[in-house]
Amino acid sequence: MKERVLLHICCAPDATAVFERLSPEYEVVGFFHNPNIHPVSEYRKRLAEAEKAAAALGFLLIAPEYEPKEWLQAVQGLENEPERGLRCAACFTYNLQAAAAKTKELDFPFFTTTLTISPHKVSAMIMLAGQTAAQTCGVKFLELDFKKQGGFKRSLQISNDLELYRQNYCGCRFSLNMPPRIPRPKGRG
Ligand code: SF4
Repeated sequence: MKERVLLHICCAPDATAVFERLSPEYEVVGFFHNPNIHPVSEYRKRLAEAEKAAAALGFLLIAPEYEPKEWLQAVQGLENEPERGLRCAACFTYNLQAAAAKTKELDFPFFTTTLTISPHKVSAMIMLAGQTAAQTCGVKFLELDFKKQGGFKRSLQISNDLELYRQNYCGCRFSLNMPPRIPRPKGRG
């Protein structure tokens, strides 16, 4: 019997190749916890696409209530940080703490996140947030860098095949018009 893993999903395109990578070994349950996404219309759009991907690929998706106010409190004082800076570290911590708590609640042994597939994000920052959250909740974080072995390119292929919406900004209100700290590769994740 496969072990169960809770997969924090930041967006549908990133979930595609990550699910493909995990599903031979694990029973994957998706967890769409992204109160960072702004505005609410964009949140609903990304959630609908995640539901579409889950239905097409065949996994269960859990989506808690959208509560952006608490996320805003978690990044208070970091509003002017550039993308890939300290606000993003706090954002990863916030979402991965929720994923770790849900993993504990469901009595799953592991959780992980699609965030590391993105070439726009710092994997070391995500790994630290995941490990810290895992220790806090007494579960294990699968420390996998999904952008390796062509993961991001594969996510582009599958999401094109499934005709999934791919956003052109990370998600929060601060990332809408903010220049990145280093040049971004083409295509968002
Ligand atoms: S830029 Fe992205 S990762 Fe960083 S705080 Fe905003 S939504 Fe979170």
